[in-house]
Amino acid sequence: MPPAACLRCGNRAVIKRPKNHHKLCKECFLSAFEDEVHHTITSSKLFYPGEKVAIGASGGKDSTVLASVLKTLNERHNYGLDLVLLSIDEGIKGYRDDSLETVKRNAVQYDMPLKIVGYDELFGWTMDQVVETIGKKGNCTYCGVFRRQALDRGANLLNIKHVVTGHNADDIAETVLMNLLRGDLPRLSRSTSIVTGSASTGIQRSKPLKYAYEKEIVLYAHHKKLDYFSTECIYSPEAFRGTARTLIKSLEKVRPSAILDIVRSGEDMARLTPDKSQDACACDDGEGMGGCGSANGRTSGGELAEMEAALKSKHKPTELETEINSNGTSTDDGSIKLPLRGRRQQKGQRQRPTGPLQTLGACIKCGYMSSQQVCHACTLLETLNKNRPEVSI
Ligand SMILES: [Zn+2]
Ligand SMILES: [Zn+2]
Repeated sequence: MPPAACLRCGNRAVIKRPKNHHKLCKECFLSAFEDEVHHTITSSKLFYPGEKVAIGASGGKDSTVLASVLKTLNERHNYGLDLVLLSIDEGIKGYRDDSLETVKRNAVQYDMPLKIVGYDELFGWTMDQVVETIGKKGNCTYCGVFRRQALDRGANLLNIKHVVTGHNADDIAETVLMNLLRGDLPRLSRSTSIVTGSASTGIQRSKPLKYAYEKEIVLYAHHKKLDYFSTECIYSPEAFRGTARTLIKSLEKVRPSAILDIVRSGEDMARLTPDKSQDACACDDGEGMGGCGSANGRTSGGELAEMEAALKSKHKPTELETEINSNGTSTDDGSIKLPLRGRRQQKGQRQRPTGPLQTLGACIKCGYMSSQQVCHACTLLETLNKNRPEVSI
């Protein structure tokens, strides 16, 4: 069989896009990926010129790709953004300390300032100590709650009002599915928003890679030769999320568009859920309580690990990156299939918040915004401190 031709330029294709099975050469794949992120950014009016933006950077593939793409687009399209890397040190030996070394190299490679904030300094606990005290079960909940607050506090220290994270389409689809299975429509609806915000700090979160497939992020990182850390967190993730993840990957195998279809369905359901901002609490941006976002460097277990290993070992240029389906997919001209829907999408889309997002009270213990008297992090800390072995604080 003759080598497949790139749908865009006619050169030899080396990549079959996981998302739509388009066959592309390396250059066309990279620019298609970047163009799509650019489209997500502009159609959602994510940034304004001169804005200072912190990239939640874990050293993992998602946030590394996010940093690289944002740097590229910022220069190419003159966004005028002031980009900073913001990393959280959860205090996990053999995992986070290694991945932070990657972030430090990224800061040099991308010429971006880097700020690291630690659970230790913010909460008086490292995750290693948390796990020592409560065991591995449920530790992800603590980590998730702490991370959200840590990112906000880190941004505050930098006087930055906008944090972007590397959540990808697979992550969103996973969360949509989990909340659907739990029957939690309000949270499902929050999880689909590209922008979420928190009240008292006024710091907004957004997900520029919301429509990017995880497999394409791996391919992008590989072909751009990005320096990232690809080991999973040593502490076990929430079991239910793992199940949702496996289900999503199985669906993707028989129907590649399933991931985006679930994201879109989530967006449609969000529009049917009234008043989604009122009960949104800062400790819950819809990701679900706990669980590592992939912004935290999580790879997705077996399949992706295999994909990465295959990419690293592959030298035969005639093979497409993913398995080839011999019936030439479509008569497409290679034009970019953008994930956004037409008018309905634009109409119902959450606009960039202009004023205070909502009015919530502040935690009486730490001052962090909360709909409760005591915020979720402080409640967890109270339990931890009660069980703290012989160390006094
Ligand atoms: Zn091409
Ligand atoms: Zn608190």
